[in-house]
Amino acid sequence: MPHAYDPQNIFARILRGEIPNKTVMETPHTLAFHDIAPQAPVHVLVIPKGAYVTFDHFAAEAGEDELADFHRTCAKITAMMDLGAGYRVISNAGDDGGQEVPHYHLHILGGRPLGPMLVR
Ligand code: 5GP
Repeated sequence: MPHAYDPQNIFARILRGEIPNKTVMETPHTLAFHDIAPQAPVHVLVIPKGAYVTFDHFAAEAGEDELADFHRTCAKITAMMDLGAGYRVISNAGDDGGQEVPHYHLHILGGRPLGPMLVR
């Protein structure tokens, strides 16, 4: 995947405080906030503060501290949100992956039965 980062993307603007967000949790390396168009009763987006485009970009190039902070934050969010009897984590990457915002993010979804992984 290409990793050219667009600093004008919406999540970069949220990180700079140019666009408001409903923050769930913030740490030195990570921000988690509610999705503006939730697809489930719980729909939280978790983003690193660093300029990473996709999952593979973050996984390959982020520092150990960023990687640990991001995933520990995800774990804390799954513990604190009312996810019901399970949840789903999604990361879309690139055009075929359906990625709309080119700043790496995980969707944490739950609070209802989520159905099949993909709609054919
Ligand atoms: P993607 O399709 O890139 O995986 O997901 C992008 C997500 O960002 C979508 O679920 C969309 O609803 C959400 N989103 C887009 N713009 C904003 C925004 O300005 N604020 C918040 N909180 N979420 C946004």
